[in-house]
Amino acid sequence: MHRPLLYLDVDGPLNPFAAKPERRPEGYTTHRMKPEGWIAQHPGTPLAHVKPLRVWLNPDHGPRLLQLGDTYDLVWATTWGTDANTFIAPVLGLPELPVVEWPTMHDAGPRGTFWKTRHLVAHAAGRPFAWVDDDLGQTDRAYVSAYHDGFALLHHVDARRGLLEADFAALDAFARSPHSSEA
Ligand SMILES: [Mg+2]
Repeated sequence: MHRPLLYLDVDGPLNPFAAKPERRPEGYTTHRMKPEGWIAQHPGTPLAHVKPLRVWLNPDHGPRLLQLGDTYDLVWATTWGTDANTFIAPVLGLPELPVVEWPTMHDAGPRGTFWKTRHLVAHAAGRPFAWVDDDLGQTDRAYVSAYHDGFALLHHVDARRGLLEADFAALDAFARSPHSSEA
């Protein structure tokens, strides 16, 4: 029996970017970063002149994720790619984690799915998985239940609030008793 995978999105669950700028959620610290994906959005601008991306991170998330690592194999599932290990992991106190490499990004998925969904089904290759992301929804759950040959929890996180205790509780519960869930 395989341990379940836990696919981690950065922007939304860990960086609640959609909160109002003057209302940084409680517990978060502000960081200014220039990951590759951000630099790529400023073609022609010299690196020194690229305004850094503001990222909010909650240091309490590190220990909670490490706890989940007792039962899950944690995997970055984010457009940050390997930059999640470079920029995000050290702030949260996480070790270097495996990274999903996306064959394509930001394109339309089949059946109205989010672009990541089919790639995660392929990556999981039948292993049970949980996935936290601010962009998943019912079409993704339908796709996963049709094409993924194993249990899955597609857990939506509000990008204005980031991961909350209730989200961690849902991930704990799924790890204890995997079943296909609508949470
Ligand atoms: Mg996101």
